[in-house]
Order: sequence, then C-alpha cells, then structure tokens
Amino acid sequence: MGSRAGIVVTGTEVLTGRVGDRNGPWLAEQLRVAGVDVANVIVVGDRPDDLRAALDFLARSGVDLIITSGGLGPTADDLTAEIVAGFQGRPGALDAALEQQIAGIVARLSAGRGWRVDPEATAAATRKQALVPAGAGVLAPVGTAPGLVVPAPDDRPGPPVVVLPGPPGELRPMWPHALAHPAVVVALADREELHQRTIRLWGTPESELAATLRAHDAELAGLEITTCLRDGELEIVTRFGPAAQAAYDGFEATIADEYAATLLSTDGRTIDQLVTDTLRERGLTIATAESCTSGLLAARLTDRPGSSAWLLAGLATYSNAAKTELLGVPADLIARVGAVSEEVAIAMAEGARSRVGSDVAVGITGIAGPDGGTPDKPVGLVHFCAVGPDRRIARKLRIPGSRDDVRKRATTQALHLVRAVLTD
Ligand code: ATP
Ligand code: MG
Repeated sequence: MGSRAGIVVTGTEVLTGRVGDRNGPWLAEQLRVAGVDVANVIVVGDRPDDLRAALDFLARSGVDLIITSGGLGPTADDLTAEIVAGFQGRPGALDAALEQQIAGIVARLSAGRGWRVDPEATAAATRKQALVPAGAGVLAPVGTAPGLVVPAPDDRPGPPVVVLPGPPGELRPMWPHALAHPAVVVALADREELHQRTIRLWGTPESELAATLRAHDAELAGLEITTCLRDGELEIVTRFGPAAQAAYDGFEATIADEYAATLLSTDGRTIDQLVTDTLRERGLTIATAESCTSGLLAARLTDRPGSSAWLLAGLATYSNAAKTELLGVPADLIARVGAVSEEVAIAMAEGARSRVGSDVAVGITGIAGPDGGTPDKPVGLVHFCAVGPDRRIARKLRIPGSRDDVRKRATTQALHLVRAVLTD
C-alpha cells in the first residue's frame, strides 16, 4: 500500500461548528493530488488531552505522516506546538533568529494597522511562537506563526508531525513548503498516483445505480466508488490508482451507455458549469425572475468570473406588485390563478426576457415554507418556466424538506430547466 497520512484539525470553534472546517478537506485533496491516501481527518477542540489522544491514535494506526492545523497563535489556548513537541519527546528551545524574524513581522503589522501594543506582552507572545522543538524543521511564517516539521523521537519509530497554522490564508501558502520538506519527502516515499473522477447524473435514483454497480461488480476491481445524492443530482466519485485506469474507462463507458438519458457530465462539470459554458459558447444572454429563491439563481449564475458575458439581470420579485411592475405580470392574472402558478411562472419568464432583452429567461415562483401552504398549494410547491431562443418549458415540482432545502433545490432545478431549453 502507498503512503498514508492523518490530519488533526484543532479548534473548539471548528469542533462546535461555529467555523466550518476549510483545512481538513483542503489538505485531504492536496494529499490526494500528491499521491497520498488520507486515513482520517480528526477534529478536536482546544484541549491538550484530546489533541494528544488524536496524535496517539493516528501514530498507532500506522500513518506515515500526521498534519495538524490550528493552535499556533500567541494566546494561551494555542497549544499545538507544545503538545506536539511533548508527543514527539522533543522539548522546545528558543530560536533567537526566528524570534527576531517574528518580532519584525509583528512590528510591521502593528505599525501598518496603527495598533498600540504592550511591548512586554508582545515579546512574550513572540517568544512563545519562536519555541522550536529539538530537531524540528521550521516553515517560514506566512502570518506571524511559523509552521513546524517535528520528527518522531529518536528512540521510537513513528510518523513526523507537520504543524500548520489555522487560518486557511496562512495554511495554504505554507503547504507546498511542508510537502517539500526533506523529512516529509522521506516519510511519503511510497506515493502512488491516485486519480479521482466524477460522473454526474440527473434523475437516476441511487437504488438503480446500486443495481448497476452490483451487476458489474467483477469489472470494478481497483475502483473505490462512492455515490452521493445531492439536490436531485447523483454524484459518482471514483478513486483509483494507475493500474485500474482500464477498469475505470470501462466503468465510465458502462454508465454513459446505461444512463445516456440522465447523464450530465463525466468530466466533473456541475450543472452550473454546464449551463454557463453553454451560454458562453453559444453567445447567449440570460435574465432571471425569482420569487421564492429571490436571487439564489442569479448568484449561482455569477459564481464564475466572466459572468457578465451571460447574465444581464437578476430580478428578485418577491411581492405581487413587483411581479407586475418590474416584469409586467398582469395583476388580474395573479388575482385569478395566484402568484404560485404555471401561468405566473410563464409570465415572469416572458416578462423578464422582454423587459431585459435577454435570449434566455427563467421564472421561479413557489412556497418555500414553513408557513403559507394550502391543501392545493402545499409548502414545497414550486412552478418554473424557462424560455430560450427556440423553446419554452414550464414545470412544477413538489420539493420536500426545510425552507432552505426548497430554495436550494428549486435553484438547482431551474438550472436543469435552462439546460433543457438550451440543449434539447
Ligand atoms: P492565530 O494566530 O490566528 O490564533 P492559529 O494557528 O492559532 O492562528 P487558530 O487559533 O486555531 O489558529 O485559528 C485562528 C482562526 O483561523 C480561527 O478563529 C478561524 O477563523 C480560522 N481557522 C482555524 N482553523 C480553521 C479551519 N479548520 N477551517 C477554517 N478556518 C479555520
Ligand atoms: Mg489561535
């Protein structure tokens, strides 16, 4: 088996979910690209015993490298360097040159930001960050905190520990230097290329795919296939080493063949990318008229740079008056059939297209909930309409789940409808 690594993400704010973890998944992907398999990502709070236990668990599980994120700052709850030094049996000693370097950075930062700092507290904080475990390598600071590469104790074999700062903007630029550090290169000597490919389907139930996978089980050796259903899209992510390339090609061909009608992409492109690529390639513009999603679709259409080439306007027409005034939806139509109806979705899309002057337009109107449902118009009912240069499609959907689920899934559904008017 190739090289394996374990990641320990520290921080009570991450453990409790106040801050979403942006380091564990990012590091895991960097490691995969570098040909290293990730055994675990462990999240621990700012508690010494829990961090020690996580290091101990990973070292015992036989990983070749441990990476930690967070807890390198100057404050009392920043304990990682000290704990790792203790774990590897390498007491910290002051690195005078590093101390000077950090002091210089802090002085420049304070001057630039106009801070008045207590010299004694600053000196103590700087000294703390300049403590380097015996025999450890130092990774130059991006912010104020240096990173560390701390080898196993001389008398016990084990993985080195790479200690990185918590702020993603500091961790990411430091990572290439960590990976190139000689002790890390030695630890990861068994790197193996590890490919990852994504296939997306729209409208295929997971159970159907599971049956296909079972039927082809014998041909899938060497492929690690995971499927995930999200917003009605089925995402199939496969990881494999170079030896299984032919097996993957066969698998991709099987899926493309058996699910031709629901296949979105085999190159990992999302529906957002497919729609905006098509708009750009065909030189078409789009406008949105959104009620229950009020702006979510326009936001997704502008996620990518260069979006001014396709999006002309996003109208969040939440009230009936706005639908009438901004989109020209007849007030008597709304009075007659209600704002959540096929007729109004069509009038919104047509109104957006003619008022904005775009080639394509989308209307979305629905009941996001949790209140406001009626027996014939329940929560989760959403009407859509997409108009393109050649055709118009109206559709309705009853979306289960929370308000958030309904709004997100409705946005995704609208993108699929745009794709349908552009490609069918
Ligand atoms: P600092 O010198 O800023 O204290 P540090 O290395 O001690 O750096 P932490 O104290 O663990 O890092 O985290 C500082 C801040 O960085 C957190 O409040 C959070 O905003 C961000 N951060 C830390 N870890 C993560 C993470 N895993 N994902 C996203 N953001 C993080
Ligand atoms: Mg900190």
